[in-house]
Amino acid sequence: MLKNLKYKIVTYGCQMNKADSERIEALLDLNGFECASKAEDADLILINTCSVRQTAEDRVYGAIYNFSKLKKKKPHLLLGVTGCMAGRDKNGAIRNKFFSALNNGGIKGGPIDLFFEITDLPKLPEMIAEKWKNKTVGSLAPYSKKMGYLGIVPKPAEWWRGCVVIQTGCSKYCTYCVVPYARGSEKNRSLGAVLKEARTLVKKGAKEIILLGQAVNSHPKFAEILKKINQIEGVNRTSFASAHPMHMTPDVIRALALSKVVNYLHLPVQSGNDEVLRKMNRNYTREKYLQIIRRIRKVRPDIALATDIIVGFPGETRKQFQDTVSLYKKCDFDLSYNAIYSPRTGTSAYKAFKDDVSREEKRRRWRVLQELMERNVLRKNKKYFNQTVEVLVDGCRAGNCYGLSREYKRVVFKGDKRLIGEIVNVKIIKAKEWELNGEITNYEYEK
Ligand code: SF4
Repeated sequence: MLKNLKYKIVTYGCQMNKADSERIEALLDLNGFECASKAEDADLILINTCSVRQTAEDRVYGAIYNFSKLKKKKPHLLLGVTGCMAGRDKNGAIRNKFFSALNNGGIKGGPIDLFFEITDLPKLPEMIAEKWKNKTVGSLAPYSKKMGYLGIVPKPAEWWRGCVVIQTGCSKYCTYCVVPYARGSEKNRSLGAVLKEARTLVKKGAKEIILLGQAVNSHPKFAEILKKINQIEGVNRTSFASAHPMHMTPDVIRALALSKVVNYLHLPVQSGNDEVLRKMNRNYTREKYLQIIRRIRKVRPDIALATDIIVGFPGETRKQFQDTVSLYKKCDFDLSYNAIYSPRTGTSAYKAFKDDVSREEKRRRWRVLQELMERNVLRKNKKYFNQTVEVLVDGCRAGNCYGLSREYKRVVFKGDKRLIGEIVNVKIIKAKEWELNGEITNYEYEK
């Protein structure tokens, strides 16, 4: 009988995957496992995978190869895979590739013991018990399978920040994206379930509630959720990811003015050219996006704006890319997550379009946007000089604390780990591209 079992979860990808890993941890803790500080100490290693780009999947193959070597030293070690790669592997091709990659590396046998879609998480204790023939692992109490995986209350990685998944899957079918295939169609949680989970996380100490969904504002009660969370005592901040421009309706835009909603919005645009947007199936035009930004700035004039952009989408010409550059300037973004188009098997862009923009040209376009962003963000950050911003402290290293302002700017200042999870005021004395440096103004340390 195995005793004192330990697990290690390795998470790749977006905030949704991180939130899913918090549920995996909660379930394993309830089944008597402990979290191992390093993989070498674990009896169970689970990799929560991301499929957004080929590089993300390649990292998973590398991790599995490395972890499978541990199995030679520790035969009872279970190695599992969940997340987007397991979710989108409808014909078993990815699973087979894991095996062949490992056998090519000289590791024979079946190094992947568990391979499951995240929605099958409630079955995990049983799956583990079956592998180990261990009756003490395998309980789901206090959950039932009927509750589904979202019924499991997450174990927050940071007690001061609670992620509440309000929606799973996506039905938008942007032509480049694997999410609808990996996570299925959009399903929205009830208002009651969302509020109950938010209140539970606040009781555990959460000061910030992050609402998560693939097109989070397409939840039919999204504005109402923001309003209700604004009323929960103990919540200091609310934020959400990722929003879809199509669903920035007047009531959602009005809700951005709520006192606890952060002064930051991440609104992926992907391209500034109508033809490219049409081929991406984004369902809005350049002008519509610009109109939304104008409306948002009427409600929150100094909001920090972030976006996602894909460069080198099939058929994107230099002129079409210039439309993206000009849109970037018009929107005056604070930040953009710029990605080079990566064809994903199974998506409609993969089937319908030739990946015809050269690698060098894609990289050139990516660099143009990166340089533009760096200039923009430095100019925008300088306006915080001499201002006092509110910071939720995330960590401390070598005598410096760091955290995020309400504009989601990273702020660094002198302090120690007693401040982690606290909300403090910091006067900014220096602005850089990727951080603001300052001095704390309102915290008295106990001697
Ligand atoms: S909205 Fe589009 S990009 Fe976002 S998850 Fe859905 S399909 Fe993917």
